Amino acid sequence: MVYQVGEFKLKTILAGTFRLDGGAMFGSVPRILWERKLAADDQNRIPLATRLLWIEKDGNWTSADGRDVQGVLIDAGNGEKFDDRSKEMFEIQVSPPKEWGVPLDRVSDLIITHLHFDHGGGLTQRNDSGELELTFPQAVHYVQKDHWDYANQPWPREQASFISENIKPLQNATLVQLEGETEILPGIQAELAFGHTESLQWLLVGQGVGAVAFPSDLIPTSKHLHLPWIMGYDRCAQTTYSEKEAFLNRAVDEAWVVVFEHDPEIPAATLQRDTRGRFDIKEVVDF
Ligand SMILES: [Zn+2]
Repeated sequence: MVYQVGEFKLKTILAGTFRLDGGAMFGSVPRILWERKLAADDQNRIPLATRLLWIEKDGNWTSADGRDVQGVLIDAGNGEKFDDRSKEMFEIQVSPPKEWGVPLDRVSDLIITHLHFDHGGGLTQRNDSGELELTFPQAVHYVQKDHWDYANQPWPREQASFISENIKPLQNATLVQLEGETEILPGIQAELAFGHTESLQWLLVGQGVGAVAFPSDLIPTSKHLHLPWIMGYDRCAQTTYSEKEAFLNRAVDEAWVVVFEHDPEIPAATLQRDTRGRFDIKEVVDF
């Protein structure tokens, strides 16, 4: 199914599944609470998705520098470069790009929310000779400059999330380093968040009621809608709390459709405040 907002046609892509430690995914929330939402396996791991967003537009779509924009991909999933040990540890299952149901030769623009391996792994691949190459060499890649600098020199606690084989080859890409909140392409607005990692960019596609938000790891699953449910991976839970609150107030008031990049069950939804004022799903939107 395709979701249409204004002239934009959007489709989510399930690029794969994996598992991470449930405790790490919910930070200070006791297991007895989170396991009602997502059951853990015998290694304490919960199921997660890597869900991407594919955007096309009716009529002409021209970038600020006059290029013809054919299609925009947001994030690239885990990719296929993991060794057997990591594949087993995270139970990584990948759907290769040719199975995504999008015309790969039309990926002209690729927006990277941040370079953690489960978002940036699929940006590069190994060719038949085992050499690293870009998965979408023809695409203009967009990353926040401050995030790029940070990903190349992260603080030690976050180092395991940044793998150099995902990042180094991007030096050969057409890489646009964005400086702050900006309209990346007509109709696609990038906003910043700092609690999860340095300068994560989340995206808003279209305008008004039904605009589609892609919060990335600001709100990784629909189970993270309650404000204190914050990943243990985050750099600063207090910052994430405020950023989530601001995002969710807008999402409810402006009737956004919110895509959950890591939710194993719910691809996207509109949101509401429940009787206690907590943020909650209003209606699932499947596309
Ligand atoms: Zn992340």
